Amino acid sequence: MKLNGEKYRAGLYCRISKEDTGSTESSSIATQREMLCRFANEQGFEIYDIYIDDGYSGTNFNRPAFLKLQHDIDTGFVNAVIVKDLSRLGRDYIANGQLLEQHFPRHNCRFIALTDGYDSENEQSADIAPFRNVINELYARDISKKIRSAFLSRMQAGQYIAAFAPYGYMKDPQDKHRLLPDPNTAPVVAYIFDSLVNGSRPTDVARQLNLRGLPPPSVYRDGSKQGLWTGAAVRKISGRLTYAGHTVQHKTTKLSFKSSVTVKNDKSDWIIVKNTHEPLVTEQLFDAVGKILSRRKTPSGNAFKNIFSGLAFCADCKRSMSVTAGRRGRYNLVCGGYKQYGAARCSNHCIGYDDLCAVLSDTLERYAVLPDGDGKDRTKTALNKSNYLRILQDRADKLQTVIARLYEDKYLGNISDKRFEILINQYNQREKQIKHDIAAAQSDINKPGGIENGTYKDQNGRLKSCAPLTAAVLHSLIERIDVHRRGQSESQRLDIYLKLKK
Ligand SMILES: [Zn+2]
Repeated sequence: MKLNGEKYRAGLYCRISKEDTGSTESSSIATQREMLCRFANEQGFEIYDIYIDDGYSGTNFNRPAFLKLQHDIDTGFVNAVIVKDLSRLGRDYIANGQLLEQHFPRHNCRFIALTDGYDSENEQSADIAPFRNVINELYARDISKKIRSAFLSRMQAGQYIAAFAPYGYMKDPQDKHRLLPDPNTAPVVAYIFDSLVNGSRPTDVARQLNLRGLPPPSVYRDGSKQGLWTGAAVRKISGRLTYAGHTVQHKTTKLSFKSSVTVKNDKSDWIIVKNTHEPLVTEQLFDAVGKILSRRKTPSGNAFKNIFSGLAFCADCKRSMSVTAGRRGRYNLVCGGYKQYGAARCSNHCIGYDDLCAVLSDTLERYAVLPDGDGKDRTKTALNKSNYLRILQDRADKLQTVIARLYEDKYLGNISDKRFEILINQYNQREKQIKHDIAAAQSDINKPGGIENGTYKDQNGRLKSCAPLTAAVLHSLIERIDVHRRGQSESQRLDIYLKLKK
């Protein structure tokens, strides 16, 4: 976590050259990627993207994935770069030095090289040191192989070999390879399955468990830890075949005996032994819940790309605003703390995604005045006049949809008359403005000069951006947006921090 509560958006960079291939397992792309992902997840970094240059030499920087990474750093999408070791970045130490000492710091970008124990944010690099040791162990793999095969035969016999019993169970005091229901937590597992099959969403179940003061699995196992139930934790429990009485093991393989780096195994390699212990739920219930959740999971959420990611925050708890699907295919942004943990962490801060888009394009048009000659590096897309016209027309179309929905909401009684009045006035004004702009742009098309590089001059001759609202545009023009709670007067305060150039 950064100090201001903003998450690190990490770019994970993997490289392997032709000379490297076939040398050691630890330098393969798959291994690099596993290692970096694992580290990023453990440290709570958001993984923005994984950049892979397969078969490129480290003697120069002319590599496609590296160039893309550099672009994403320049445009502010990535603010942390993680590599396995410094030589992944490049084998030219002078060029590496320039990146580390000038380029990354200039873009406020943290840099971590795992096996070298290098972390630009941490002089002692204490957090990294254990990882370096872990990797060094990868080369001594012979012992681990023997131990692994012993484990495998135990798994095949249905013996439970993990260090801890899964939540809901405890180890049989007579036989540590057998599971018995834990009288404290087995009822919680049953409650989770019952709620899910009756239609509760995982986040709702998590909220209920938190309200009852029940510790989540990690806290129950280790009382010194802190945390609350989350939708993800509930979902995880609902997918564990263990609760139907079967033992599922060998889901991951450790890279080496002493390593904490594990690789996920293919499902066909899982070792499943049926009816090894007392089930907490019936097979039918387990299957029913699985079907309900898989049906719900895929369509929304995943596909929706939130352009305010990393920009919009809850004004009170400073957590990111997170996307939820609202009614009739619409999306809302809600305080991530409230969404995940409920009233224990924050209160309901919520704004319609479309509303925020409308406010932002309006704000940018009004205030994001670019100094002359600055247009080129702000927006790299070379937009010509007709593109600009197309964007305006597109905006006009979208506005029509928004207005139509507003009437629909009023008709269905989803919105108060007062709020309807406020919004419809705003939209009408915007519509007028856009029509005016379209007329101006149409007449401008025949004149020389004018709109270039995603900028145009308004009536007062001020240079403005006319790029469509995208994450890239927002990140280049806006520092952050703080979303306040909706007030009683149906108004809602937004603090929009613009990046102003002097
Ligand atoms: Zn909040």
